[in-house]
Order: sequence, then structure tokens, then C-alpha cells
Amino acid sequence: MNLSEVKTGEKAVVVKVNGHGGFRKRLIEMGFIQGKKVKVILNAPLRDPVEYEILGYKISLRREEAEKIDVISEEEARLSVSSGEDLSAIIPEDCADEEKLDAVMAELAERRHHVIRVALVGNPNCGKTSLFNIASGAHEHVGNYSGVTVDAKEGRFSYKGYDFVLVDLPGTYSLSAYSPEELYVRKNLLEALPDVVVNVVDASNLERNLYLTTQLIDMDLRVVMALNMYDELRAKGDELDVRQLGTLLGMPCCPTVSRDGQGIPELFDTVISVYEGGHPDSLARHIHINHGSELEKSIKHLQQHMQENLTIGAHYSTRYLAIKFLEYDSEVERIIAGYPNAEEVREARMEEEERIRPLLGANLESAIVDAKYAFVQGALKETFTPHVEKTPRRTVTDRIDAVVTNKWLAFPIFLLVLYLIFWCTFTVGQYPMDWIDAAVAWIGGKIGSLLPGGWLRDLLVDGIIAGVGSVLVFLPNILILYFFISILEDSGYMARTAFIVDKLMHHLGLHGKSFIPMVMGFGCNVPAIMATRTIESRKSRLITIALVPFMSCAGRLPIFVLFVGAFFPAHSALALMCIYLLGVLLAILSALVMKRLVKDDDLPFVMELPPYRIPTAKAIGRHTWEKGKQYLQKMATTILIGSMIIWGLGYFPHDMSRGAEYQQEHSLLGRVGKTVAPALDPLGFSWKMDIGLISGVVAKELVVSSLGVMYAGDEAAEVDTDTLSEDTALQSALLRNVSLPAAVAFMIFVLLYFPCIATFVAIKNETGKWSWAAGICAYTIAVAWIVAFAGYHLSALLL
Ligand code: GDP
Ligand code: MG
Repeated sequence: MNLSEVKTGEKAVVVKVNGHGGFRKRLIEMGFIQGKKVKVILNAPLRDPVEYEILGYKISLRREEAEKIDVISEEEARLSVSSGEDLSAIIPEDCADEEKLDAVMAELAERRHHVIRVALVGNPNCGKTSLFNIASGAHEHVGNYSGVTVDAKEGRFSYKGYDFVLVDLPGTYSLSAYSPEELYVRKNLLEALPDVVVNVVDASNLERNLYLTTQLIDMDLRVVMALNMYDELRAKGDELDVRQLGTLLGMPCCPTVSRDGQGIPELFDTVISVYEGGHPDSLARHIHINHGSELEKSIKHLQQHMQENLTIGAHYSTRYLAIKFLEYDSEVERIIAGYPNAEEVREARMEEEERIRPLLGANLESAIVDAKYAFVQGALKETFTPHVEKTPRRTVTDRIDAVVTNKWLAFPIFLLVLYLIFWCTFTVGQYPMDWIDAAVAWIGGKIGSLLPGGWLRDLLVDGIIAGVGSVLVFLPNILILYFFISILEDSGYMARTAFIVDKLMHHLGLHGKSFIPMVMGFGCNVPAIMATRTIESRKSRLITIALVPFMSCAGRLPIFVLFVGAFFPAHSALALMCIYLLGVLLAILSALVMKRLVKDDDLPFVMELPPYRIPTAKAIGRHTWEKGKQYLQKMATTILIGSMIIWGLGYFPHDMSRGAEYQQEHSLLGRVGKTVAPALDPLGFSWKMDIGLISGVVAKELVVSSLGVMYAGDEAAEVDTDTLSEDTALQSALLRNVSLPAAVAFMIFVLLYFPCIATFVAIKNETGKWSWAAGICAYTIAVAWIVAFAGYHLSALLL
């Protein structure tokens, strides 16, 4: 009996909760666990939701939800007592009738709970019927061709105190609604509600077989994989990391040979353990197959619309429905048509189709199929080693992979690619950078000459235009960098780089996927931190977020260029590289420390290996522009306001009568600088440099411009200003005023300390916690101080 059938005022004992994982989890958390007593407070035929009492709490459940809960009711217990069934052993003697009834209910629930329904699902000819026969002792016809089993056969057997009801389903390659077999299997999984699905897989033909598995994962069922024909895999000499495969797929995998029964007892042991909630070692967990960021957006979008139908979640995982609906599955189409907002869901799909088609160069349906194969490819690449290079038909992707993931060539190729990108970003980017620079100067000059003198003009010219302009110049670099990153991502190469560095990253408690955000960090930390979303493991993700600020972003580059040019003119390239490497080194060291501090599920996950594809111009354009837009938004908000504040702090209280130097020193900014000065004195910084650092809190780009303002009053520099460009004037001013060790310490400090406000906000948004953002910032400042201190004294000794 299910809970919705129990009458008002009656009691029942829970046997189990049926349905998909998300639903079961929710109800189990409410207390619907085997053996718990539920009382029906009010259950009228037309009443929905129905009110129940469990564990002393009142809970209302929708009728559709209650239907999914198996119970033993009082009525059933009375019936089996009166039917003369021998229950004397469990009925306590001399006690009240009610207690007796409770004991009978509990016993019956316990017995019913020990019935496990298992469905065998798999491709045709993978050995399902053989497994069915050997487990249940049946003699169903086994044939070495597909299509032998056309409808479900049911077999029963007992094992380890459980009664198994085993169902042999027809073989299918997929769970779409195309063939009657596929529909039949799907209906059975969703409506007959097996407790555990055994996914029978032909281990000698994994790639094709695992496609079906990805669909079972979407359905959020409890699955155990039988890696059947394991004898054939062995005979071929192939190697498979069974445990790792199970971890990646989120389901325990058991090697079996169903022709002679090897591994079958272990298989059913595992089924029992998964059924009983799984001990921690059983690997059973719900994973999401990552369909790539664009498709995941589409799935989320449809899921949101579907979830507006409150009862839908009792029947299906909405993620599964969303994916199937995006694939134009006719059966799911019918299901959705039964809900009031069907039209809305269809419209959402139309929007997504229009969005995806130009982006991925494929329609939704094939994009989803591709993503699933990418998942399978990735999982196999990490776990499966074929004995001999099997090359019956090598695809273009295989051939490219043979080169770019080759043991010896992978790293050189990868470094070359990185080098080319950085070269283009900074060398080619120099031209538009100069143009923007000139344009900003021109506009500033024009406005300066048009407006009458006064604080308003100074604010416009020195505050807003100069401040925002100093950031705007980096827009070309950022766009070029993201242009290349988009090409790498969309072509499929980025996924391979994650593979190449995966082993290295594991030593740091990270994952191959952490690598991409870290590379992006060299452009700008903000999108880099957002890019960590593709990392499924919370631990890896948090550590990656914490490390990104050590990647020297483009905003820090002008500071280094300025200082390196002044202090190490003969070795500028080498010095620059040392700075970048120092950032990477500290990221590595920090990872090693944090690996121990952050505790969480450190579960591996599949890195998808999509086929290589020539990216569409539209997708590249759009991805590049999205990143550029974020950067422009940062300028229009944070940096604009920041420049104005810094300018204001430096301008007020205003008294130029005693010269610019005096003005700066006695301005609010000067006072703030002097306040923090004692903390930074050990690093050899002057208060002017301190002010530069303070303005860098808003955005690193502001450090140079505020140093420019600070040292503009340097008398000796003024002599040169006519002949030298502004930067070189600043450089000579720095040379006169700053010692070499202090310059080294300053560069180190700039590299490592507080990323910038925009990054701070991004960290807060991505981790969901202010405390994380604050913690990471405090950490970076502490590291910056310590390393800069060491750098100061070391360079004083050595240089
Ligand atoms: P079904 O289509 O999935 O029901 O597969 P069958 O049970 O009909 O088996 C198909 C063929 O595979 C038969 O010839 C079986 O004898 C053979 N077979 C089944 N299991 C195994 C196994 O573990 N190892 C080997 N080598 N052959 C098997
Ligand atoms: Mg069969």
C-alpha cells in the first residue's frame, strides 16, 4: 500500500520511498525512513496536500508525493493477523492491542523492505539475459544477436536474506523515444520503479555502452554497473581502472562474467549496499553530466520553467526532463503538455535552440549527444588503457589527440601555444593600446582647455578621464587574450590541456580543470574566478579561487613595466618573467598548504573530451565580447568611482599655495598614506608608494596613475619633462627617490597583495561567503608582506 491510500486517523509504517534520487533524498530528510511510524491527520478524497505526522512533526505532502511512499498500514497488519498468518513470534504477549498492532506493522514493513526490485538495463547482446538466468536460476533463451528479449521477464530469488525481483528488460542503445524497446524500458524505469537498476555493460565495448549509462545518470536512479564480459576485456589485454571508473560515474562498478557466474555474488552484494543507502565506500552518488557551460545554461533555463509545476518533482528529475525536452523527446513532450505552462516551456526551448545553434554550430539535440560522448570519452581516457593501439578507424580527433596529448610533445606544444597567446596579447595589443592612450590624452587636453579652471575641471581631467583612461588602455589586451582563450575552449583544445596538466594539478590538491581559470587569471582575475564554475569538486574549486589572485593580471603589468624599466633596464624580460613565476610559485606553495586545510569531498570527476571542432565565428565573437563587457562594466563602475574617490582624497583639503608636494602630503590621501606607513616601513616604501598601494586596492591599474601624480612634483623630474615622455619622467623620479631593494619589495607586494575590489566581489559571489572573500584577501596581504620583506632584505644583500 502507498501512503496516499491510508485513511484519516490511521497509522502506517514506512517501508521505503520510491522515485528518483532528488525526491527520495528530500523525503528521507523529512524522516520517511524505513520503520518510522506515520499518522494521517487528515486525508479527504479531494484534499491536496494531505497532512501527516511523523517523528512528532506535522508535515503536509502532496498526494502525488505520498503515492511514492511504500507503507504497511494498520489495515494491512490487521488483515494479516486475521488471515491466520503466524505472527505469534513477533507479537509481544500481555500488552495492549495497539502495541501488538504496532509490532505487526513494524515486522511486516521490515519483511517488505527486504524485497528488492532490480531491473537489468543495457545494450542488446551485452549479456543481460545470461545474467538474469544465472542469478535467478531461470532458463530464458540466450542468443548472440540483438532483439532476443522483447518484453520484460521477471525472475525471483533469495540472497542474503533479501528477496530479489529481477526484471530482464529489452536491450537498448539509448533511452530516447524512438523505438518501442526504448520506450518500454523507460516506462519501466519511471513507472514500475525498480529499487536499483543494474546497468549491464559490455566491458569489451565500453564507449558505445556507456552512452546509455549517461542517460541513466540523468534520470537520477540508483544504479550499479555490471561490467560484463570482463573475461573478454582481460583476454584482449586491455586494462580498466574499475574503481576509478565507478568514482567518475558516481556508481559502483562490478566486473562480472555472466556466462559462468563470476562476480555475480559481489554484484548483488553491491546492489544490497546501494539499496540500503550505501556505505561510504560504495561510490554511489548523484553526479551531473557536464554538458558544457552553454548547454548547462539551457538546461537550467528549462528546469526553472518546469519547476513551476510543483508536482512534477515527485515523478521525475527535472534535470532529466529538461535534457530530454531539449532533445525534442516526444514522450517528454507529452508529459510537459499535461502541465499548465507547457507553452512557456516550449517557448523557452525555442529561445535556447536559437541561442545554441549559432554558438555551437549544431542543433540542441546533436549538441547534447556530443556532450554525452565527450563525457564518455573523458571518463575512458582516464580509466581505460587498450592493450594495443586499436586503429580500426581513426577519426580526425584521434589523430590530433595522438599528437597534442603525446607523452613527449604535449608540454612543448602547450607551452608554445601559451607563449604565442601572450606574445600576441602584449605585442599586437601594444598598437591599439597606444592609440587609446593618445586618444585619452587628447580628450583630456581638449576638455582641460575648454573648461574654466577649478575643482570640477580637475575632477574631470585628472580624476575621471585619467583614471578611467589608464584602465581603458588595457581593453585591447583583454579582448585579444579572451579571443584566444575562446578559440582554445571552443575548438576542444582547452579540454586537452586540462588532461595534460591533470596529474601535476593532483599533487596540489587541484584538478586539471583548475588550470584554465588560472591561465585566464593572467588576463583578469574576475572572469578567471567566474570560470571556476566548471570545477565540480568544492574543494578544488575553493582552492583554485584562492590561488587565482596570485596570477599576475594584466592590470599589474604596467606597474612592473614601469619599475623594471627603471631599475633593471638591461634585463627587463628576465625580470618580468621572474615576477610572473614568483606568482605561480606562491600559488603552488599556497595550494600545498590549503590542500591540507580545506576539507571536503575530494571526488574526482570526468573531464569531458569533446571532438575537435572549428569554432564558429559567432561563438568566438560572443565569448570574447562577454568577457570584454565584464571588463568595461568594471571600468564603468568600480574604477570610475574608485578614481573619483582617490582623486577626491588627494585633492581635499585643497591648498596649492605651497606647491603640489605639500598639497599631496597634507591631503586626506596623504594622511591615510602616513597612517599605514609604519606597517609598510620595514619594506622600505615611502608614503608616496603607500598611497599608490592604497589606490591599487580599487584596481591595480590605478597604482601607476597615482604614482604619476605623486611624483609629478619631483623638482628634478620637471627639468626633463619636456624631452621625456611622462612614463620615463616618472621612472627617473623613482630612480632618484626609491632604493633598489625597496623597488623589488614594491613589485613583489603589488604582485601578491589584495587583488582588487572587483575580484573581491567576484570571490564573494562565487564562494557565496563574505568570510571567504575576506579570508583570501587577508591571506594575500599577509603573504605579500612576508615575501616582500624577504625580497627587500635578499636584494639588499645580493644586488
Ligand atoms: P542480452 O542480449 O543482453 O540478453 O545478451 P545475452 O544474455 O543473450 O548474451 C549474448 C551473448 O553473449 C551470448 O552468446 C552469451 O553467451 C554471451 N555472453 C554473455 N555474458 C558473457 C560474458 O560474461 N562473457 C562472454 N565471453 N560472453 C558472454
Ligand atoms: Mg536478452
